[in-house]
Amino acid sequence: MSDRRKFIKLGVAGTAALVTGCVGKNEEAAGDPKGAGGTSAQAKGAIVLSTWDHGMPANAKAWSVLQGGGSVLDAVEQGVGVIESDFSNRSVGLGGMPDRDGHVTLDACIQDHEGRAGAVAFVQRFEHPISIARAVMERTPHVMLVGAGAERWAQENGFSPRDVDIPEVRKAWTEWLKKGEYVPVANVENHDTIGMVAMDAQGRLAGSCTTSGMAFKVHGRVGDSPIIGAGLFVDGEVGAACATGVGELVIRNAGSHTVVELMRAGWDPTDACREAVQRILRKLPDPSGMQVGFLALRKDGSYGGWSVFNGFNYAVRFTEQEALVDAGHELKLP
Ligand code: ASP
Repeated sequence: MSDRRKFIKLGVAGTAALVTGCVGKNEEAAGDPKGAGGTSAQAKGAIVLSTWDHGMPANAKAWSVLQGGGSVLDAVEQGVGVIESDFSNRSVGLGGMPDRDGHVTLDACIQDHEGRAGAVAFVQRFEHPISIARAVMERTPHVMLVGAGAERWAQENGFSPRDVDIPEVRKAWTEWLKKGEYVPVANVENHDTIGMVAMDAQGRLAGSCTTSGMAFKVHGRVGDSPIIGAGLFVDGEVGAACATGVGELVIRNAGSHTVVELMRAGWDPTDACREAVQRILRKLPDPSGMQVGFLALRKDGSYGGWSVFNGFNYAVRFTEQEALVDAGHELKLP
């Protein structure tokens, strides 16, 4: 990390106060008891945001791509690609947790400011599902390929499968098999799906999302992460949003699309994320264990996030600054 950059862990309001070139918004809400991230902040120029603390290295890569003259689409692809290649990460890429049959199955999607989109779901043995998703977008008339068809298409298009045996993953599965219960739990460990939304200095937006999905899911289950409008949505005129957490809840509520549409209607990014969370909760009699987090970037450079429970954070990168921000939340974990 360069000396000139500061690594700061604080709420958005604090980030806005500390980072040169940022304008704090909704400052009066800074004391919001729901959480330090209960406000939006605004960056000038290029910005990269991504979910959870693994967003820090992902953002660093995306930023270097932008600085090197790469497109914002290159940035969001290569940024999350760093996490896909980190086999110590248990929720993204081939090092992710397996499904209940012991297979690691991957989902990813990508979208640009023109609304072009690509996705893959339920793919196995490929290190970079996000790059396959981009290739689907750029080389086919389709948006999404899944399963064996996606794998075959990937191989035909220059992607090589690989076999990775990770003892920790095998051990976790063996442990899980003892009870064999599928119970989605709220993530309190600060790592999960990576969703990234970014804007270059010219105001072009792009987003990416990649995951190994819920641990011990039913074989064949696909969550929100590869679904445009659920795990990710980018509208070049308005902004971008991405999601993490229990994918079924995000899909049922068209989560990321909802956030972007609220921003189109003039909502602040944090408020838009919060409203999307509240809509989920209104239809959920028992939210126990049901973490969902949204992250949003508006075309004017303002950004924010919100989650069902505390524990969701996101990484922000712009100018020479980076920060890890605790998002605001509706409910406190017991
Ligand atoms: N959203 C992902 C899924 O449902 C998992 C997660 O973010 O934890 O597959």
